[in-house]
Amino acid sequence: DANIYLFVRVARLGARYILLLAEDHTESYRLDEVRRDFVANISHELKTPIGAVSLLAEALQAASDEPDQVRRFAKRLTKESERLAKITQEIIQLSRLQAADALTKPEVVDIDHVVALAIDQNRVAADSSRVTIVSGGDAGAEVYGDEPLLAVALHNLIANAIQYSPKGSRVGVGVTNADGIVEIAVTDQGAGIPEEDLDRVFERFYRIDQARSRHTGGSGLGLSIVKHVVQNHGGDVRVWSQVGNGSTFTIRLPEASHASQASLKEA
Ligand code: ADP
Repeated sequence: DANIYLFVRVARLGARYILLLAEDHTESYRLDEVRRDFVANISHELKTPIGAVSLLAEALQAASDEPDQVRRFAKRLTKESERLAKITQEIIQLSRLQAADALTKPEVVDIDHVVALAIDQNRVAADSSRVTIVSGGDAGAEVYGDEPLLAVALHNLIANAIQYSPKGSRVGVGVTNADGIVEIAVTDQGAGIPEEDLDRVFERFYRIDQARSRHTGGSGLGLSIVKHVVQNHGGDVRVWSQVGNGSTFTIRLPEASHASQASLKEA
């Protein structure tokens, strides 16, 4: 159902011939459309928290001589501003990843270290949801790439696993290393993802349950960032899930000794 955009030039060559020149502009039209969609989505996503912030600020002024209410509104104001900051940060991360689609200074990265970092960053969230994180796997797996970006990707998967899991459940983070492929799997015992949504969860701004996700403060950008980071490293990310049986997200990356410069996108 895609449109094709052709620019056609006509030139007369003498009395008997006409020259027709067709240029295909489909790709640049498609990119324009993607860009317009992105901007429209961003505006939509920012509207809700910005609206909430200004309403809460008004309410705060009106309630100035009622300490309990002031505290309540101030708390919500903090939460909404944090959400706004998170969405903004994710938008910046994603647009950087999309613009550069390359790793500027790839280095050898110790995957155990990335796993430890990402688990540490999720410790507070896990504790407050009473979720236990269990980690294990191949000590010493190394990939070639950008450590902070890989940590962001893994952080997002673990954060989702915690966020979409019931209290008291477990989240597993496992690393295996075989045949030149380092595999990091994040498994949860959460609600799972309906089959019809599995292909779409990596799309920008896609949320399965809009109301629930919005309530939990999700922007729908986390998995899209994961996908871009992993692709920039010459790897892929997959999801296995069944409603009621939890989900497993698997990142696969070429092992450092097997990763050639060519398998990473050129800068
Ligand atoms: P969000 O910021 O909303 O979590 P993501 O891009 O990280 O955005 O995820 C997209 C959607 O995929 C989420 O809104 C959620 O519905 C679903 N999802 C992601 N991870 C999980 C998971 N581990 N279990 C169940 N659903 C998930």
